[in-house]
Amino acid sequence: MQKDEITGGCYCGEIRFSATPDVRVSANCHCANCRRAAGAQAVAWIVVKRAQFTFVKGKPHRYETETGAWRTFCDQCGTSLTYETDRRPDEIDITTGSLDHPEDFPPTKDVYPEERLPWVDLIHA
Ligand SMILES: [Zn+2]
Ligand SMILES: [Zn+2]
Repeated sequence: MQKDEITGGCYCGEIRFSATPDVRVSANCHCANCRRAAGAQAVAWIVVKRAQFTFVKGKPHRYETETGAWRTFCDQCGTSLTYETDRRPDEIDITTGSLDHPEDFPPTKDVYPEERLPWVDLIHA
């Protein structure tokens, strides 16, 4: 059940964002890049159109990865927030864990399952 607005932010509260619903994809990514960027065994993401998404408080640090993508994180507390790639120019990925209600967005597919750590489960759909 999706609400009128998707909201979230970083751990310290310096960065807040909002997005309108219509989540295109909800996935759990096992790639080594996400793992390192977030310092987590896997990273769940929701994908929305870029036009649906705005930072409403604060300005995250934004950096280009070695794969030519752009990631943002809070430079106060380090929470990983978004991912953008020119391969999907109209989309932005938001870390499910930074949402105010991540429980509403269970991942429905695994991405890069071949890179997963052996002790991380895939989704049992
Ligand atoms: Zn923060
Ligand atoms: Zn990934």
